[in-house]
Amino acid sequence: MVHNKVTIIGSGPAAHTAAIYLARAEMKPILYEGMMANGIAPGGQLTTTTEIENFPGFPEGLMGSDLMERMKKQSERFGTEVITETISKVDFSSRPFKLWTEFNEDAEPITTDAVIISTGASAKRLHLPGEEKYWQQGISACAVCDGAVPIFRNKPLAVIGGGDSACEEALFLTKYGSKVFMLVRKDHMRASTIMRKRVDHNTKLEIIYNTVGLEAKGDGKFLTALGIKNVKTGETKDLAVNGLFYAIGHNPATEVFKDQLDTDETGYIKTQPGTSLTSVPGVFAAGDVQDKKYRQAITSAGTGCMAALECEHYLSELDV
Ligand code: FAD
Ligand code: NAP
Repeated sequence: MVHNKVTIIGSGPAAHTAAIYLARAEMKPILYEGMMANGIAPGGQLTTTTEIENFPGFPEGLMGSDLMERMKKQSERFGTEVITETISKVDFSSRPFKLWTEFNEDAEPITTDAVIISTGASAKRLHLPGEEKYWQQGISACAVCDGAVPIFRNKPLAVIGGGDSACEEALFLTKYGSKVFMLVRKDHMRASTIMRKRVDHNTKLEIIYNTVGLEAKGDGKFLTALGIKNVKTGETKDLAVNGLFYAIGHNPATEVFKDQLDTDETGYIKTQPGTSLTSVPGVFAAGDVQDKKYRQAITSAGTGCMAALECEHYLSELDV
C-alpha cells in the first residue's frame, strides 16, 4: 500500500506553489497533476493561453505554458514527486484519507495524512460555430487576462452574459475597446443593482437584451464579427466586433469531492475566510477551486502558499 504524508491534487499555480513550500520544508509532497483532468492539460488553465503579462517577476511577459513548466521544475528541484494521473475517487471520512486514481479504482487506495486540493475551475463556453478557430484569436473568457492585448485596442468588443462578472468584464474592457456591447439573453440582467447601474451609466457600453450569439466569424486569422439573434423577434445580423468575451460562469473541478467536503451552491469548495481550511481537518483547498471572485494565477499561487503553511502546521501537530 502506498502512503503519502501529503498529497497535492492539481497542477496549476496553486498546486505548484504549495509543492514548492512543502518540498522545501522536507515534507516530500506527492503531486497528482492529472491526465487531461477536467479537459485541461497538466499545468492548468495557463497552458490554454498565450502570453502572461501580469505575473510579477517577468517584465517582458512569458507564455503561459513556459510559466507552468518553470513552476513544475521548481517543485521538482526541491523533491516534489509529480505523477501524471488523475485522482478519480476520494474518501475523507476517516484517517488516513484514501485516494484512488482513474487507473486503480478497484485496487488498494493510496493513503495520505493530508491533502491539498487545487484542481482549479474552467470558464463555461458556448462552443459556437467558428469558436475553436478564433479561440484566443479574438475570443476569450477572461477580460482581465486578455483585454489589454493590442488586437482589442480601440476596437469594438462584445461580452456575453448578464451577471456581475459580465458587468465587471465589460466595464474593464471599456478602458481598451472603442465600444463594448453586452449581449444579455433575457430582457433583464441577473447582475446586482450596483453593477447594473455602473454599466448603464458608462457611455462606452451598449446593452443588447434578448440576444444570443450564433456564430464567430473572422478573416481566417482573427475574429471580425459575431452573428447574433434577437430571441424575441427572431431577427439575425452580424455585429462587427474584434473581441468576444464569455462571462457566463465557471465550473469548479469538484465533482470528485462531492459529498466529502462542504461546497457552495455552485460547487466551489468552502474554506474558512482568510484560510485554506475546508470542512474536513487535514484537507486544504487553494486556487480557483475555492475562489469564484479573483481567479488569477497570482491569487492561486498565494492561496497555494497559505495551504502549504497551514498543512505543515497541521502535520506537525499530528506528529507524523
Ligand atoms: P488551474 O490552473 O485551474 O489548474 C488545475 C489543474 O488541476 C488542471 O491542470 C487540471 O487538469 C488539474 N486537475 C483537475 N482535476 C484533477 C484531478 N481530479 N486530479 C488531478 N489533477 C486534476 N490569470 C492571470 O493571472 N493572468 C493571465 O494572463 C491569465 N490568463 C488566462 C487566460 C485564460 C485563457 C484562462 C482560461 C485563464 C487565465 N488566467 C490568467 C487565470 C489563471 O489561469 C487561473 O486563475 C489559474 O490558472 C488557476 O490556478 P489553479 O492553481 O487554481 O488551477
Ligand atoms: P452568474 O451570476 O451565474 O451569471 C451568469 C450570466 O451568464 C447570467 O446572466 C446568465 O444568464 C448568463 N448565461 C449563462 N449561460 C448562458 C448562455 N448559455 N448563453 C447566454 N448567457 C448565458 O455568474 P457570474 O456573473 O460569473 O457570477 C457568479 C457569482 O459571483 C455571483 O454570485 C456573482 O454575484 C458573484 N460575482 C460578484 C462580483 C462583484 O460583486 N463584484 C463580480 C463577479 C462575480 P441568465 O441570467 O439568463 O441565466
